[in-house]
Amino acid sequence: MSKTIIISNRLPVKIQKEGGELTYKPSEGGLATGLGSIYKEGDNVWIGWPGLYLKKKEDKDRVEKDLNKENMHPVFLSEQLIKDYYEGFSNETLWPIFHYFMQYAHYDQRLYEAYVEANQRFCEQVARVANPGDTIWVHDYQLLLLPQMVRDKLPNVSIGFFQHIPFPSFEVFRMMPWRRALLNGMLGADLIGFHTYDDMRHFLSSVSRLAGISNSDGKVNNGKRVIEVDSFPMGIDYDKYASSAASPKTIDHEIRFRTSLGDTKLIISIDRLDYSKGLPKRLEAFESFLNRYQEYRGKVSLIMIVVPSRSNVIQYQELKEEVDLLVGRINGQFGRLNWTPVHYFYRSFQLESLSAFYRMAHVGMVTPMRDGMNLVCKEFIASKLDQKGVLILSEMAGASKELSEAILINPNDVNQMVEAIREALTMPEDEQIRHIQIMQGSIKKYNIHHWVKMFMGRLNAIKNNQDALATKNIDHEALTALKKDYDSNKKRLLFLDYDGTLTGFRTNPQQSKPDIELLGIIENLISDPNNRLIIISGRDKTTLESWLGHFDLDIIAEHGVWLKEKGQGWHTLENLDSKWKKQIKTVLEQYVDRTPGSFIEEKDYSLVWHYRKVETGLGELRTRELASHLKYLASNKNLLVLEGDMVVEIKSALVNKGKAAQKWLQKFDSDMIIAIGDDWTDEDTFKVMPDTAYTIKVGSTSSAAKFNVDSHKEVRALLKKLSEKPGTSSRKGKSRK
Ligand code: UDP
Repeated sequence: MSKTIIISNRLPVKIQKEGGELTYKPSEGGLATGLGSIYKEGDNVWIGWPGLYLKKKEDKDRVEKDLNKENMHPVFLSEQLIKDYYEGFSNETLWPIFHYFMQYAHYDQRLYEAYVEANQRFCEQVARVANPGDTIWVHDYQLLLLPQMVRDKLPNVSIGFFQHIPFPSFEVFRMMPWRRALLNGMLGADLIGFHTYDDMRHFLSSVSRLAGISNSDGKVNNGKRVIEVDSFPMGIDYDKYASSAASPKTIDHEIRFRTSLGDTKLIISIDRLDYSKGLPKRLEAFESFLNRYQEYRGKVSLIMIVVPSRSNVIQYQELKEEVDLLVGRINGQFGRLNWTPVHYFYRSFQLESLSAFYRMAHVGMVTPMRDGMNLVCKEFIASKLDQKGVLILSEMAGASKELSEAILINPNDVNQMVEAIREALTMPEDEQIRHIQIMQGSIKKYNIHHWVKMFMGRLNAIKNNQDALATKNIDHEALTALKKDYDSNKKRLLFLDYDGTLTGFRTNPQQSKPDIELLGIIENLISDPNNRLIIISGRDKTTLESWLGHFDLDIIAEHGVWLKEKGQGWHTLENLDSKWKKQIKTVLEQYVDRTPGSFIEEKDYSLVWHYRKVETGLGELRTRELASHLKYLASNKNLLVLEGDMVVEIKSALVNKGKAAQKWLQKFDSDMIIAIGDDWTDEDTFKVMPDTAYTIKVGSTSSAAKFNVDSHKEVRALLKKLSEKPGTSSRKGKSRK
């Protein structure tokens, strides 16, 4: 039975050594809760670093054995590797870059190599436990290379990847020397998830600019697979926070805290110590607030909980000093015997204490400079059982896309934050309730379980689709059967599309001239008198004639407009009209004038606007404009406007490859038919073929064809195999040892 494998940097367990004995405590984080329902079931497993360094083999074996019982598989990493891969590359290169703190990023090849090594170590562990057909879910920025590494080892698994931190704009991402490798690593997945649409957009733009692959509605076709990219905003365990807020222990804490604080109104802020969290600006805002609205002195306090984090990194130490100074300055300046403006805790708290703070605070102040999602703001809302309170939320946090009922602020705008605090403190109760009610409704629905369900549901759907396609893939067995059939049949018709089927795509279409290998393949096919080879292409007849005209073969050009049987001249399929071209060409020329890099290709009965060389984004934008403009013009002319791979083509609606291919089917008897093509125009060919034909689609998108192959390289290999004399097989490289 296939299983699900979760992989993250850390296993969801805290291991401690107490008096020589190891104790295991489950982590309480949201991810561990959400995925608990998955990895604990059946054969499913979670792979990750166990969080401690073990040198002795017997200690490792012991921990491994203990964890295996809980469906966990540890990846043991040395202290040095953790330092370089996790603290180094992950936290000092990727973290600052992905959070737009480029000035803090280190570019150190040694750290990157450690990152590669650690990802490989994870991959080795995956390879030990995974089987073909398994589903794998990789988490976060520490493992960006892992999806492709796993894909290389296990081509037949479904891989999901979720990034928990932001994905920056291409202009920032491109700064890293290893940008291409990191992107390729991620593209090993079948499904890539981000918290927000903006992260997804940024990722897709990097894919398009660095890897040269465009997308259609978030689907990236890399020529072998379709990779789906989407946003899945992560939620919290709503019930856990709501019930903790109601628990007697929490209420007990609240009573104790209240006794010491009196009836001051409270603003709560909870973060890890991190430069992305906007701590100094928040303190500055609170200080300005006390200056501007002096009547609140003695009446409002900020409870600032800062959880220690990455304390051996210099920027974090400096940040700690800055926060300490600011808190000291505010308390020194405004504090009174009976009132402390900022209650500052540099430590972490148990859930019940956090819940008590969430309950008591009138205002939740969450003002990160940049945050993938931010869970604290959601926990604050879930803890408000009486629905009274106000959330001030940074528009730079992923959560702001869902929580539009909060007071949204720009964390660099101190003045706006001051006014937001004032607004929050004076907001009428009915308004508070109205906002919190709406936000609770949303957080409750889109909780952590919903997030897991959505992502896994999508990954499973992709897997089912892959399974269906896999059964269509031409494997060794199917190829042998095809070859046998080929050898036993006398008269064969071979319909072969050109671009994407016999050659790969090039930036300039004229560069796709047949190479020596392809010329040899064609030569071999036509040298068999039993074969009738028909090249069935969208290209213009002049190009096809100059490239292939010297061969003894048939050509269908311009998607079926022009036909040529071997040894004869060109003729058109129908009595076609091309008068429409003049008007449409004038329109296209306007688009060329406005869009550097685009050009018009004129065929006898169609016009094509190419934008492969246009600046990424601009081409797509113009295409949408052009397509709707043309659809309007084309409606009364019986024309079709087709959007293809970086092209918009306008042609007569009366013609397609299928209609042209039918002429051959009617005219020539055959015992065997093979049709191979890669895009939607070839679907028309597939559809007119008889049931007995071998129809083969290049690429993994759904098709009317019976079989799939991955790329034009496989098509070439297949055609070579077919041309071999029966009983012989390629012995390439075998006798050379
Ligand atoms: N948290 C905690 N103990 C504390 C303070 C915070 O467990 O003393 C938790 C908090 O409840 C939240 C998480 O730490 O679930 C912080 O998550 P968030 O997404 O807000 O920030 P991150 O630290 O992941 O950047």
